[in-house]
Amino acid sequence: MPVTAIVGANWGDEGKGKMTDVLAAHSSFVVRYQGGSNAGHTIINEYGKFALHMLPSGVFYPHVTNVIGPGTALDADVLLQELQQLEDRGVPKPSVFISDRTQLVMPYHRLFDQLEEERLGSLSFGSTRRGIAPFYADKYAKLGIQAAELFEPARLRSRLSQSLAAKNVLLEHLYGMPPIDLEALLLELNEYAAKLQPYLLNTTELLHRANQSGASILVEGQLGALRDPDHGIYPYSTSSSTLAGFASVGAGIPPGSIERVIAVVKAYSSCVGAGPFISEITGEEANALRLRGGDAGEFGATTGRPRRMGWFDAVATRYGCMVQGATELALTNLDVLGYLEAIPVCSAYRLANGTITQEFPVNAKLEGAEPVLSKLPGWSCDISGVREFDQLPPNAISYVEWMEQAIGIRIGSISVGPHRDQLIKR
Ligand code: GDP
Repeated sequence: MPVTAIVGANWGDEGKGKMTDVLAAHSSFVVRYQGGSNAGHTIINEYGKFALHMLPSGVFYPHVTNVIGPGTALDADVLLQELQQLEDRGVPKPSVFISDRTQLVMPYHRLFDQLEEERLGSLSFGSTRRGIAPFYADKYAKLGIQAAELFEPARLRSRLSQSLAAKNVLLEHLYGMPPIDLEALLLELNEYAAKLQPYLLNTTELLHRANQSGASILVEGQLGALRDPDHGIYPYSTSSSTLAGFASVGAGIPPGSIERVIAVVKAYSSCVGAGPFISEITGEEANALRLRGGDAGEFGATTGRPRRMGWFDAVATRYGCMVQGATELALTNLDVLGYLEAIPVCSAYRLANGTITQEFPVNAKLEGAEPVLSKLPGWSCDISGVREFDQLPPNAISYVEWMEQAIGIRIGSISVGPHRDQLIKR
């Protein structure tokens, strides 16, 4: 059975958690392959409402094996808290495995993230301060610590003291902070080691065997295409690739096995953090959309920050779906637009030099770009109870068809509310 990827077409928060939760019902494996605890997937089911940051979205199904792949940034604290939260709220103990190659987000990664954002002041990137950028910087500088190294005391001590030597110079002389104490850090890591041990496994072998035996595997991306470090709005990007193509690397599965790529697209736009956001709206117009969006307004699942709001952006979304290699789309939050008599959409950009384009430009050229907006007729009613496509109001059908044409990829499912059953399959 081919592997299915669920990924974001936009800036994140498209509703991937809900779509993964729905698809996990028919999957044997759900795999996280990038990112860490810096974004949250909201899932609403019979156990209540959950914002998962570290755990894969399949944890509510007893038949699903959940895997945290080597490409992720493992925040042990958050992971253990989330497992505890599931237990406290009556969710049966999920099956979770963490690759023993996964590297750990260290307390000093979170500290450096915070200190650097403070140092940058108004030039900061709007980081969630979960240590993700310092974590990936260390990983590629070969200073990261793999989970398996927690059980090799001499090696751990030697690698950490090498890494801390440079970090402590920065702490003391750039940030004016006390140095990190190696012994205290080792004690803290020792505690994590004991707690993480039952979950660690060579998940690459596990997934290869599963793939060969035809098991259904779902890989879930975090954030969205426009946050990809190579193809997104760098430097306002995240630190690991958000693309379906990276799932092969970050999960450890053959590239050719990912045959189905579902890009989750929002019926309007939202964005957390700094960076260009061409179809952005502000003031009352934004508030009206923000308060109606998602299941309880558009506020960050990790930070609680109000999300930046905008109209559907066909330029960014077509590009996002292209770089994701989307084979089909899942449209979410269509119900949210029911309050509008006419719905603005952005179909092109006017660049600072006056050029009108439908091609998403490189970040340096986005400065000063403006949206070219048009309006589509709204449907002015509640569609959250609709379950068949042809039962939607004609203007909602036209909106979906307009989006499909603007992006050039079929919309296979339409979500009309945050709950599992609020879904229209086409
Ligand atoms: P993710 O990171 O892509 O999983 O997205 P988030 O969980 O951060 O944000 C999606 C928000 O939209 C959550 O509050 C979901 O409960 C909610 N949501 C998902 N699909 C729908 C939908 O079709 N309609 C509405 N109203 N809310 C939705």
